[in-house]
Amino acid sequence: MNILNKSFNTKYNTAPFSKINNEDYLPAFKKGIEVARTEINNITSNPEASTFINTIEALDFSGEQLDRISSIFFNLNSAETNDDIQKIAQEVSPLLSEFSNDITLNEDLFKRVKSVYEKKDSLNLTTEQQTLLDKKYKSFSRNGANLPENKKQNLREIDKQLSKLKLTFGENVLAETNNFELLITNEDDLSGLPDGAKEAASQLAESKALKGWLITLDYPSYIPFMTYADNRELRKQLAIAFGAKAFQNNDHNNQNNVLQIAKLRHNRANLLGYKTHAHFVLEERMAKNPETVETFLNELLEKAKPAAEREFQDLEKFAKTLDNIDQLQKWDSAYYSEKLKQELFDLDDEKLKPYFKLENVIEGAFTIAEKLYGLHFEEISDIDKYHEDVLTYKVTNETGDLVSIFYADFFPRPGKRNGAWMTVYKPQYIKGGKNDRPHISIVCNFTKPTKTKPSLLTFNEVTTLFHEFGHALHGILANTTYPSLSGTSVFWDFVELPSQVLENWCYEKEALELFATHYESGDVIPMDLIKKIKASSTFHEGMQTLRQISLGLLDMSWHSKDPSNIENVKAHELEAFENTKLYPDASENCLSTSFSHIFQGGYSSGYYSYKWAEVLDADAFEFFKEQGIFSREVASKFKDNILSQGGTEDPMILYKRFRGAAPRPEALLKRAGLIGK
Ligand SMILES: [Zn+2]
Repeated sequence: MNILNKSFNTKYNTAPFSKINNEDYLPAFKKGIEVARTEINNITSNPEASTFINTIEALDFSGEQLDRISSIFFNLNSAETNDDIQKIAQEVSPLLSEFSNDITLNEDLFKRVKSVYEKKDSLNLTTEQQTLLDKKYKSFSRNGANLPENKKQNLREIDKQLSKLKLTFGENVLAETNNFELLITNEDDLSGLPDGAKEAASQLAESKALKGWLITLDYPSYIPFMTYADNRELRKQLAIAFGAKAFQNNDHNNQNNVLQIAKLRHNRANLLGYKTHAHFVLEERMAKNPETVETFLNELLEKAKPAAEREFQDLEKFAKTLDNIDQLQKWDSAYYSEKLKQELFDLDDEKLKPYFKLENVIEGAFTIAEKLYGLHFEEISDIDKYHEDVLTYKVTNETGDLVSIFYADFFPRPGKRNGAWMTVYKPQYIKGGKNDRPHISIVCNFTKPTKTKPSLLTFNEVTTLFHEFGHALHGILANTTYPSLSGTSVFWDFVELPSQVLENWCYEKEALELFATHYESGDVIPMDLIKKIKASSTFHEGMQTLRQISLGLLDMSWHSKDPSNIENVKAHELEAFENTKLYPDASENCLSTSFSHIFQGGYSSGYYSYKWAEVLDADAFEFFKEQGIFSREVASKFKDNILSQGGTEDPMILYKRFRGAAPRPEALLKRAGLIGK
């Protein structure tokens, strides 16, 4: 019997990990798709006129079985994969995209959705229902459902070209990254590099049967070299190679691809009735339109620029004193910044780690959640887990009701991908009057305990844990009717608020005293260390802000105007950087040709959201600071208006209801030390 094809019959209805065999997946996916198709057919063949309930709600609750199998399978493909699972993923992915295309292109279904949408004002819908209706309607209209047949064809053609161009763009960047190698044969040229980086470089050379040390443009090789290598000439060589990716006179040049992608995106947006690609993208973001984004970036620029220029001059003076450098170049930036930082803060991870034993940090995060939201985390051992390292918890509220199941998976192992993330095994929703609680998980790659030492976290790992735990709280406290609006299913420039805001507690004395105690002596972390952590966290914040703004403006320059007159990628880029540049330009370099975030990944017209999210979290945390970081009053407002609401309403409205006003950049600028307190 295939465990995935029936009700799990497990405690709390949790995933039955131990009973699933790899052979179960493919048949279960096929069965899940079949059931979902039947559910969709039941909607379209309903003889009754379309209503919100028989169409929109039915659509949102369809495919539940398929969703559960998908989330179990793809979560494990990230956290505990192997060759078999990856092979199944290869087989399953086309089936799933075919199924989702069939829904988007289902004209009968769209007709019913549209007829509900057209009478929406007379339906007396709740706010959540209106949001769901809007979201469902747009999932069709934004894919061309309203277009006449010939224009639908155009759209498919553009989409086909775009996906090909994006693929080529990425392949070119990868090829250019891989084609460059800097082989060092004289050990003196490695002066300044930490031992770990030297060792990695020597192993890399060895793996290619070369003698010496090999440096490449991959981040783990490139970043340490740019940060620590004393040899300025080699840093220059490496930086120029890095910046010249896909901008050289060879087959991997991306200039034409950049121009074509920008133009096709613009045409696609026009076809769908939007002024530009940015207008199309931002319709489904908190920022709403390009004007808001541009004003936002330019306002930040105005505030951050004086600080950035000051920092740049200080760094230039420092480099002059140290090495008699006259003109600071971009290949000096990481190197002298690191040296200056060492001189100013003398703060290294080894000093901090003893205060951050993993078990203490987890307890600390739980205590903070208890103080703020009345949540209680109890470790349980009566549910299945997919690996023995996974910790399992039952989360209850102050009246003892079950709020969520929570999984935490902290240590690296083969089969787990890098990084840290929060994910969902089962979303929250309300069906038939019953509030079905979610199953939430966080996955990290932290330092493992050894025989003699417990797991001691770096400060960066501590903030990562809080970050993911913040996302988890968004899932745990979800309280919506519809699964597709639940928890973290919110606009993309809003989703980092709950995670980033929680990181702020890691810098507060009152919070650190709860858990940052030395693993041997039990002493609380000294105040001067806390002060240093705080000060170093905003080191060179002006220049970093300027850098982020420049990338955000470059992104907008490609997507918020008609790009048909742009002919020269480099010239266009120089113009976009006009107000944000600090370092002299290198004519051999171009950023756009390897800006994968916006030309290959999903960040087009979205790069601003890094800073946007920071503004939100700083402004939200300032509210906590005003009332006390453990204020139940502010916490309740945050829970009731944001954490529990998911994507049920426009995020700006939710935010204003929490804060009493729209987010302002002042709190971020203050926190970053860019304006006076
Ligand atoms: Zn995040």
